[in-house]
Amino acid sequence: MTVRGGLDDLVSLVSGHRWVALTGAGISTDSGIPDYRGPSAPPSNPMMYDEFASDDANRRRYWARSMLGWQSFGRAEPNLGHRALVGAPGLAGVVTQNVDGLHEAAGSSPVVDLHGRIDRVVCLSCGTYSARARLQSRLQGLNPDIDGYLPAGAAELDSARLRPDGDAVVDRWHDFRIAPCEACGGILKPDVVFFGESARKELVTNAYELVDSTDVLVVLGSSLTVMSGLRFVRHASRTGTPVAIINRGPTRGDDRATVRLDAGTTETLLALRDRL
Ligand SMILES: [Zn+2]
Repeated sequence: MTVRGGLDDLVSLVSGHRWVALTGAGISTDSGIPDYRGPSAPPSNPMMYDEFASDDANRRRYWARSMLGWQSFGRAEPNLGHRALVGAPGLAGVVTQNVDGLHEAAGSSPVVDLHGRIDRVVCLSCGTYSARARLQSRLQGLNPDIDGYLPAGAAELDSARLRPDGDAVVDRWHDFRIAPCEACGGILKPDVVFFGESARKELVTNAYELVDSTDVLVVLGSSLTVMSGLRFVRHASRTGTPVAIINRGPTRGDDRATVRLDAGTTETLLALRDRL
């Protein structure tokens, strides 16, 4: 298979067809949200699901970081790339690996949030969903001494310490007070897929249905490192649906790509939008 790599190739692949976008962290970097795996990624040691679910001290650490990081994360806005997808000719929907909710904020619909949403929390006992913003005010009420949790000399948060899942680096958490589920007193977890956890089955089904209903799969800003995203590329390739991949740097799906652009998503989507 010959891989084509120009904007013209992308335009001719997508033009006049129904297509679906599969997006990753690369589409949100222009909104100030760093990429775990991109070239300028901060050192990252994400908490595993079992660590969170099984240990109270780990949950204190998680929520201390999350409470501080939320203040910056909550301010992120959709960028021109997110906006260029809204109403793009032929676009049937967006499947995203991001948890930032920026596609919805831009106005895209439908959006399958494969890995959940950072602006929601879920109770591990009763399954009730609630707003992260509400939890934030509860946490701040329980922990008014917010600056005491930041590393020395770092009372002001900056984007360098903001991490992709919306938390921040803290060096104290043993006395952080976490808030239980208001319905049942159970353990609250952000409604995002942790490492060691699977995406919700119905979301995966929705994503497959969207891919199967379209003529072209366009990957935007993902290195497809985890199977969670890569499986859709493999599925499309198996079923004869052409795949375009736009990403800075190599991806695990490159051998399945019909069109492959080593480029930023914002500039590419703006150019594509003008040509469709
Ligand atoms: Zn509950």
